[in-house]
Amino acid sequence: MEIIWAVVFALLGMAVGSFLNVVIDRLPSAKSLVFPASHCGSCQQRLSAKDLIPVLSYLALRGRCRYCQAPIPRRLLWVEMGSGALFAYLYWLYGLSPDLAASAFYGCLFLVLMVIDLEHGLILNKIVYPAMVVALAINIFLPDLEVVPGIASGAGGAGLGLGLFLLIVIASRGGMGWGDIKMATLIGLVTGFPLVLVAILLAVVLGGLVAVVLLLLKLRGRKQAIPFGPFLSLGAMAALLHGTSLVDWYLGLF
Ligand SMILES: [Zn+2]
Repeated sequence: MEIIWAVVFALLGMAVGSFLNVVIDRLPSAKSLVFPASHCGSCQQRLSAKDLIPVLSYLALRGRCRYCQAPIPRRLLWVEMGSGALFAYLYWLYGLSPDLAASAFYGCLFLVLMVIDLEHGLILNKIVYPAMVVALAINIFLPDLEVVPGIASGAGGAGLGLGLFLLIVIASRGGMGWGDIKMATLIGLVTGFPLVLVAILLAVVLGGLVAVVLLLLKLRGRKQAIPFGPFLSLGAMAALLHGTSLVDWYLGLF
């Protein structure tokens, strides 16, 4: 039975991923999430149900529009597969539980923030502010969940994320911006204290490693800023799901 549920959540995750792709496409340019219906970005042909089956449509069409043969952005496939894998993994971690619902919500949130920052270099207020309100409500009304820090810890985490990132932004002199500060505050609210430190530390280490590799491979110049939101997203999810074990493991080294 377990495996059937895992498959069900993988499929659900892919379907959710296909909606997240619409969110990622439309929110940065202030388009409606509902109208118009899904269409090819190239020939504008309205897509039918068989064109919109997550993952499978992309593979069956070999990544090209059925009507005009224009390439379909590969990101659509990655987000659907990533979201499917994430949902199956969260089911494996938490089973059918409120923790599964809360962690899936945060997973979708950080996935959307990550991809929009990668594609546009933007961390949108219209995502971050409502997400803060939802995270606050979750902290107040569902404080007993494993993935929820509760009110005091959430407030402490938010304050620390804000303060720490103000310092980082000042120190980085333009490498990061207000979007990163707001996102660090949101992450503090979501993970609480002390896990916000784990999230930021992981993000800084991962971002630094990637920056060095890109520089060595000459894929980016020294002056080009790398969006930091994707690393914050990954750090936040790692801290949310495994932060406590990471801290225990680290303290066990001494
Ligand atoms: Zn087309």
